[in-house]
Amino acid sequence: MAPPILSLSATELEQWLADHGAPTYRRKQIWDWLARGATTFEAMVDVPKALRGALDTAFRATSLRPIAVSEADRGLTTKTLFELDGGHSVEAVVMRYADRSTLCISSQAGCPIGCPFCATGKFPFGRNLKAHEIVEQAVDAARVLAQEGRRLSHVVFMGMGEPMANYHAVVDSVRRLADPDLLGISPRRIVVSTSGLIPRITQLGEEKIPVTLAISLHAARDELRDVLVPINRKYPVRDLVDTAQAYADRTGRRVSYEWVMLAGVNQSERDARELGALLKGKLAHVNLIPFNPVEDTPYRAPDRASIRAFKDMIEAQGLNVTVRDTRGREADAACGQLHERVMRSRQTAGV
Ligand code: SAH
Ligand code: SF4
Repeated sequence: MAPPILSLSATELEQWLADHGAPTYRRKQIWDWLARGATTFEAMVDVPKALRGALDTAFRATSLRPIAVSEADRGLTTKTLFELDGGHSVEAVVMRYADRSTLCISSQAGCPIGCPFCATGKFPFGRNLKAHEIVEQAVDAARVLAQEGRRLSHVVFMGMGEPMANYHAVVDSVRRLADPDLLGISPRRIVVSTSGLIPRITQLGEEKIPVTLAISLHAARDELRDVLVPINRKYPVRDLVDTAQAYADRTGRRVSYEWVMLAGVNQSERDARELGALLKGKLAHVNLIPFNPVEDTPYRAPDRASIRAFKDMIEAQGLNVTVRDTRGREADAACGQLHERVMRSRQTAGV
């Protein structure tokens, strides 16, 4: 199978072009076509015909094959499950708002961390995505949005996988998402969400790409976080928050702390007090995410009143807090859920 064109770096593609007697500026032209939604080389009409033919023989425009799509919020949220080379699949979710369009992107097929409330963590880990496979998800979203007269403005690494466990590909993909020759998404509009791989967070702070860091906290005491986010046994919560604070100091970026609300598990007054004590004086924002129910887990979604009550308790601790809207619930749009449904139906169908 021909390599996908985005598996080549800018320099590699320019070298290929030079080897084929074409000027290196064609590289920008090709990337621009991809960013604007071209799915074939043939469509790149200001590229000479012979070169289009040579590109078509040498490369594929993308390696991703869409195999399922679902829709929610009257079409404002769409989710695509892509098959990767080799057979694993990942999902990407596009969320349309009045003032922006956000893509939730996957960095791994499956996830090795195994949080017990997460659909992705329930399947065996597949593999790390390559940088181009991450970028191709964004290029596809940009294409879909362009057809609607929209522009992809934000990317969040909150789909399948733990981005910091696929560090080099993720950092490479962030640089390429931010590259003005391709999608030109400002790093400030890119959120990397992590369960807390401390050494990698420190390393990320040294990269000079000021992405927004989101920490999946979910519990402020080790005893509970050890269960909800098993990597906590290796990287305890206080050390994690210190590391995130160092990231904030270094980059000037406010850290976002995610808290998935699990009814009767992590929404008590004690939880709020512990969270308040942990984040006191930090450049922090707390994002409460109502649990999106996952089959075969012991967890339940909280009701409105308890979401409100927990939010108030956190505010009373002097913290900055918002409740994430539950975009895409019907689209199985939380982390790993379309994948799970398709896998289940395949299992049922014996595929
Ligand atoms: N692995 C990374 C990024 C992907 S998960 C991480 O854990 O941060 C993105 C966010 O979705 C995390 O905060 C995660 O805890 C949350 N999440 C996972 N399953 C969920 C569910 N069923 N309902 C609500 N949020 C969920
Ligand atoms: Fe992995 Fe994040 Fe899901 Fe935990 S919540 S299993 S780290 S994808």
